[in-house]
Amino acid sequence: MNLVEYQRIKNNLPSKVQLVAVSKTKPEEDIQTLYDQGQRIFGENKAQEMKTKHEHLPADIQWHFIGHLQTNKIKYIVPFVTLIHSIDSFELLKEVDKLAVKNGRVINCLLQFHIASEETKFGFAFNECEAMLQNPEFQQLKNVSICGVMGMATFTDDKELVRNEFKTLKKYFNLLKDKYFATKDDFKEISMGMSEDYPIAIEEGSTLIRVGSAIFGARNYAKL
Ligand SMILES: *Cc1c(COP(=O)(O)O)cnc(C)c1O
Repeated sequence: MNLVEYQRIKNNLPSKVQLVAVSKTKPEEDIQTLYDQGQRIFGENKAQEMKTKHEHLPADIQWHFIGHLQTNKIKYIVPFVTLIHSIDSFELLKEVDKLAVKNGRVINCLLQFHIASEETKFGFAFNECEAMLQNPEFQQLKNVSICGVMGMATFTDDKELVRNEFKTLKKYFNLLKDKYFATKDDFKEISMGMSEDYPIAIEEGSTLIRVGSAIFGARNYAKL
């Protein structure tokens, strides 16, 4: 844990930007420690892990889901999740809506775009997302609220590439806002920026940075 770095990030955050502390793979004690410093938004990328942590930790934590979500795992998080950053298909959005109805909740969602040059990162292509937004079936979804966009930049030292990818996401946000969400005040979030690139993301208009290892230290996947 690097509480000095946590405070430094917090103190330098513009007022319009919120910090999601990405606690995936990290023990509950670490989350409690950061909670005691005042942090309330935590990000996880595994549904069952998030559910267990939610059950054990303070009820006023806002849990953000940031990873690829399989439809059969939605049920674990729908009762309590605050924001799903990673809607990457129409199928997934429809399933979230269905379970949200069952739970009597409206689930806040971000549309994840593929902005990186790597093959492996999930997310919509822009035209694919527009096809969904224009589909009459999309209009029928009453228990999901689309609050903005999310993207991950290429993992690289090439800062200009990263900056351009963030610019692309911001451009997508503006296009969607104008064309589909002009009257929806809740469509306002741009989730971009991680430990290595969040300063650039903030310069390019991020409203939600997702920072893990800079705060909690390197993750050890081998231990799991
Ligand atoms: C793990 C993860 C992060 C945090 O990454 P760090 O480099 O540790 O800050 C942010 N966003 C997503 C989608 C992640 O999976």
